[in-house]
Amino acid sequence: MRRLRRTKILATLGPASSTREQIAALFHAGADVFRINMSHTAHDKLREFVETIRSIEHELQRPIGILADLQGPKLRVGTFADGPVMLSNGEAFTLDSNPAPGNATRAHLPHPEILAALEPGHRLIIDDGKVVLQAEHCTPKKAVCRVMVGGKVSDRKGVSLPDTELPVSALTEKDRSDLDAALNAGVDWIALSFVQRPEDVAEVKKIARGRAAVMAKIEKPQAVTRLAEIMDLADALMVARGDLGVEMPMAKVPGIQKQITRLARRTGKPVVVATQMLESMITAPVPTRAEVSDVATAVFEGADAIMLSAESAAGQYPVEAVTMMNRIAEEVESDPTYRAVIQNQRAEPEATGADALALAARQIAETLDLSAIVCWTSSGSTALRVARERAKPITIALTPKIATGRRLALLWGVHCVVTQDARDLDDMVSRACRFAFREGFAKPGQRIIVVAGVPLGTPGATNMLRIAFVGSEAVDV
Ligand code: PEP
Repeated sequence: MRRLRRTKILATLGPASSTREQIAALFHAGADVFRINMSHTAHDKLREFVETIRSIEHELQRPIGILADLQGPKLRVGTFADGPVMLSNGEAFTLDSNPAPGNATRAHLPHPEILAALEPGHRLIIDDGKVVLQAEHCTPKKAVCRVMVGGKVSDRKGVSLPDTELPVSALTEKDRSDLDAALNAGVDWIALSFVQRPEDVAEVKKIARGRAAVMAKIEKPQAVTRLAEIMDLADALMVARGDLGVEMPMAKVPGIQKQITRLARRTGKPVVVATQMLESMITAPVPTRAEVSDVATAVFEGADAIMLSAESAAGQYPVEAVTMMNRIAEEVESDPTYRAVIQNQRAEPEATGADALALAARQIAETLDLSAIVCWTSSGSTALRVARERAKPITIALTPKIATGRRLALLWGVHCVVTQDARDLDDMVSRACRFAFREGFAKPGQRIIVVAGVPLGTPGATNMLRIAFVGSEAVDV
């Protein structure tokens, strides 16, 4: 089972994709990593999802990644006494700490820390931008606001605060309990929502203690401002365009997507482009031309993965949506302009042995038209540095650790195989050839390049390159 594209596909699971047959169908259609959205998934269901994916993985003998996406501090207004209220432009509307149901002039904001942090001039965006308020007079108990964009507000609608640095951790009590459940279930990636500061990422990493890698969702202006520091700490990034498009002017989102993908590629951190990629396929069997173009843009940018949300979780055409993403990625990657676009965004190597060898491996592989770059990797770091090069041939990561194989399922151009560590140099080279053949990437008579660290099993010691012929003995696995 091999993919004909380098860009990976992340598919969110939900009611439209919860049985073993449905999940297996998504994998066969092209999903490489599955996302479990903790906003909508109970712990029992989370465990069931993980067990089902692991059993599919076992049957197909391919590592599959699982990402648990924590809800984060989603802020909401309280309830209203007589149903939804209509707010008109220019009117005053107060948000306060009084838990009594609201009316046309006031509502409860059940987050005292937010009332304390609000300042005059700060905007409060309600229900994904349908209503916008601006704070005028603020006390720790209430914020008197002016209605800038009027509309309907009903019970427990979400509130975004693009101008306010919230004095809250990115982890709520619910997130802590979901994180614990996800780590115990054995997921590979944790996505953290509404990250504002590098400390938010550090907090999750401290709890995860390496049991899962941590992906920072970039969806707040505060995170965009501190992108480099957040990227330093996070293991991966997600361009979470849904909330980003609420918290920031929508027209800025494509530019921010480019900034994030470029910085991630420069640092060698995996990056996922998410949300509304094939939105119309929630209810239609074919996407719009604009959606196809949007997916293609992310592929041309060299994103590691592109993501489906409701399309695969709750839509009427989950398998068709994955199939369509797969087809778009394959088409873009075989377009005559693709390599040039990808190469233009390639960053210089950092001054480390691993980066120098990754660059050399790519150059040799491309110059000699080799069939594959095969890297032996225990922690996954060699594969990460090789993936950063966005090489033309496939990268095959051979790892003795299933956890590494699963995490690497998210990476651009990396095909993972779990196998015992090599015994010695000869074994390392001969098994690299055999796996390149067995996985369908090289034929006898073709050549590959092997990247490894010797002595074997020494973390961070990428120091060896070897060009090897795939001989006829590679066929006898
Ligand atoms: C987003 O906002 O784009 C996103 C991916 O997060 P969620 O789906 O959790 O809102």
